[in-house]
Amino acid sequence: MDDAFRFADELGPLKLVHIWRPAVGLRAVVAVDNVACGPAVGGVRMAPDVSTEEAFRLARAMTLKNAAAGLPHGGGKSVIVADPKMPLADKERLIRAFAAAIADMVEYIPGPDMGTDELTMGWIKDENGRAVGLPREVGGIPLDEIGATGFGLAAAIDVAAEHIGMPISGARVVIQGFGSVGKHAARLLADKGAVLVGASDTQGTVADENGLDVAALTALKAAGRPLRDHPSGRKLGGDAVIDIPCEIWIPAARPDVINAGNVSRLHARLVAQGANIPCTADAEETLARRGILVLPDFIANAGGVICAATEYQGGTEVAAFAAIDEKIRANTRALLAQVREKGALPRSAALALATARVERAMQTRRWEHAG
Ligand code: NAD
Repeated sequence: MDDAFRFADELGPLKLVHIWRPAVGLRAVVAVDNVACGPAVGGVRMAPDVSTEEAFRLARAMTLKNAAAGLPHGGGKSVIVADPKMPLADKERLIRAFAAAIADMVEYIPGPDMGTDELTMGWIKDENGRAVGLPREVGGIPLDEIGATGFGLAAAIDVAAEHIGMPISGARVVIQGFGSVGKHAARLLADKGAVLVGASDTQGTVADENGLDVAALTALKAAGRPLRDHPSGRKLGGDAVIDIPCEIWIPAARPDVINAGNVSRLHARLVAQGANIPCTADAEETLARRGILVLPDFIANAGGVICAATEYQGGTEVAAFAAIDEKIRANTRALLAQVREKGALPRSAALALATARVERAMQTRRWEHAG
């Protein structure tokens, strides 16, 4: 009995539900962490090696991210133990069985994550009436296509640059990962006069201190080609993206890319976290000691979830951009004020801000606060 409560603390999880449907081979876990701010929004992850612990940890991350973004949503997450590359008809059967199994869990709104996409969300909505990240044809706002997260990241950078007295125009930018987040951040910063001096993908880095052509790099990726096919600039290994001196360094690929072993190689004034947990905790402390400002992931990359929340409320693309801009600027300002006044690490300040919001919301709810 105790084991079922091994994750329980003052915030949650409210429910940890195991779903087993032998007839279709469905094995899934839904973690609804906290719903004090509103119904939980969080992705459905499909992978062969997901676990209950992963579901809980990701759900908690969503509680904090949604609260930090000032959204009327709590945090949840679900994991389905399966190979997402299975034949589409089998995937549809499994997803529909999952959607039917969670039909009564009205406090949880599924969204896309690793191994699921817009089409998957369409099936879930069709089955039980609740999902975000839907195809445009059924009321969705295609957040990756419109660059919701990159747009929010650029807004956070704008506020932070002002905070450290650094003009964006002329600032050198380096981006690790030139996908949905990285390429849109590059475009928007270039529009403000910043100069992209380095970018990387899984196949390597391209660097040019005189500036890279963002549109040309984006076109290469759209054609399914690597950045190193860009005709100009130096071609380097993937890891070399860390060594390129710049004012703004943007991780937009994988977790833990900046760690104790390589943090000393990073020379920038600002690190804006597009990716989730791209720096280890000790690397973030080192960066702070070296006077490099870090904009933590769950403040800076919240554009996607703000867009999803706007979609859920029936809002338009225009409304989504307005909400992202307003919320991310306000939250970055609040965070930086704490950093300045209390000398706190940006991540600790952001966590405190988010936790305080959840706790205030819990005070308004029956059964949900300790005293
Ligand atoms: P994506 O798949 O569209 O793009 C990822 C890019 O990173 C690709 O260009 C890929 O080639 C590159 N890449 C992968 N491994 C790399 C490596 N080791 N070195 C350099 N480049 C590498 O993904 P995305 O949607 O842009 O997401 C990027 C990151 O941002 C992920 O950590 C994701 O969890 C996070 N994130 C995304 C969103 C969103 O709205 N898409 C929101 C919040 C956080």
